[in-house]
Amino acid sequence: MAEHRVGIYPGTFDPITNGHIDIFHRALKLVDKLVIGVAANPGKSPMFTLEERVAMVRRETSIFAEEAGVEIDVVCFDDLLMHFAERVGARIIIRGLRAVADFEYEFQMTGMNYQINPAIETVFLMADPKYQTIASRLVKEVARYGGKIAAFVPETVEKEVLEKIG
Ligand code: ADP
Repeated sequence: MAEHRVGIYPGTFDPITNGHIDIFHRALKLVDKLVIGVAANPGKSPMFTLEERVAMVRRETSIFAEEAGVEIDVVCFDDLLMHFAERVGARIIIRGLRAVADFEYEFQMTGMNYQINPAIETVFLMADPKYQTIASRLVKEVARYGGKIAAFVPETVEKEVLEKIG
C-alpha cells in the first residue's frame, strides 16, 4: 500500500490571506492529509484570538476539502513545531517562500529542524506572483490606515478585519 502522506502547514494566520490560500492549494497536491497548524504565537500580539484564527482558517479552507479529495484538519498548537509535526504524524512541513527576506529565517529554521528530526522534510512553495507580496502584517497596517484590503484577503476576512479596527 502506498504511504499515507501527512503534511503540516504551520503559521500564525493573523489573518489568513490570499497568499496563504494559494500555498494551501499547492500543498493539497502533495499530501493525502493536510494539517493546518495555527500557532498561538502570543509574542506577535495577534489581532485575532487563537480561536478566531482557527475558525477563520477552518471556514476558508473546508470548502475545498471535498473537491481536492484530501483530508484537511485545522488545529492550534503552542509547542515546538517539530513536536507538533511528530504528534500528528507528519513527514512534510509546508512553508511558503516570499521574497529574499523570508530566506534567511527559513534557512536557519529548516537546518535546525532537520537536526531535531531528519525524517521530516521541509518543502518550500511559492505563491502566484500576484499573491507573493501579501503579508498579514501589511494587510493589518493598510486596513488601520483606511486602505482597501479586498484584493489581499477573502471577503469575510476583510469584514472581520474592519470590525476589529472598528
Ligand atoms: P509565520 O508566523 O510562521 O510567519 P504566517 O501566518 O505569516 O506565519 O505565514 C505562514 C506561512 O505562509 C509561512 O510559511 C509564510 O512564509 C507563508 N506565507 C504567508 N504569506 C505568503 C505569501 N503571500 N506567499 C507565499 N507564502 C506566504
